[in-house]
Amino acid sequence: MSMELITGGCACGAVRYRAKGPIGFHILCQCRFCQRFSGSVHSALLGVPKAGLVIEGPAKGYSYDNGLGGIRLHVFCSICGSGIHGGNPDEDFVTLIASSLDDPSLFVPTEVINRDEAVPWHRKAARLILHEMK
Ligand SMILES: [Zn+2]
Ligand SMILES: [Zn+2]
Repeated sequence: MSMELITGGCACGAVRYRAKGPIGFHILCQCRFCQRFSGSVHSALLGVPKAGLVIEGPAKGYSYDNGLGGIRLHVFCSICGSGIHGGNPDEDFVTLIASSLDDPSLFVPTEVINRDEAVPWHRKAARLILHEMK
């Protein structure tokens, strides 16, 4: 895994971060909390060491009990609401939210977790008609 510098930020540009690899995992989480805070059917998360993460700008966070094994943290831009990272306060890594990456190609999902909480139609999403832009 790469030790390269990972950079990203929110949609409005007020929050920026840099993190150091290695990237420990790439997951799609389908739990209800990820659905709610992502505004989608899952979140896309990559794990990086907490010690190497530096955030600049008006980030805010809150903790919640996801009912799936502990307290989780969600950090977002207080201006535009874009998610920046999550994590468990007791763990030594954080989960960057992949949509915040400057280089989206760094995220290569390998696992899906909390599939039992997936919205019903998502299991059929692979069979949807795909419209490609020319
Ligand atoms: Zn923002
Ligand atoms: Zn989740």
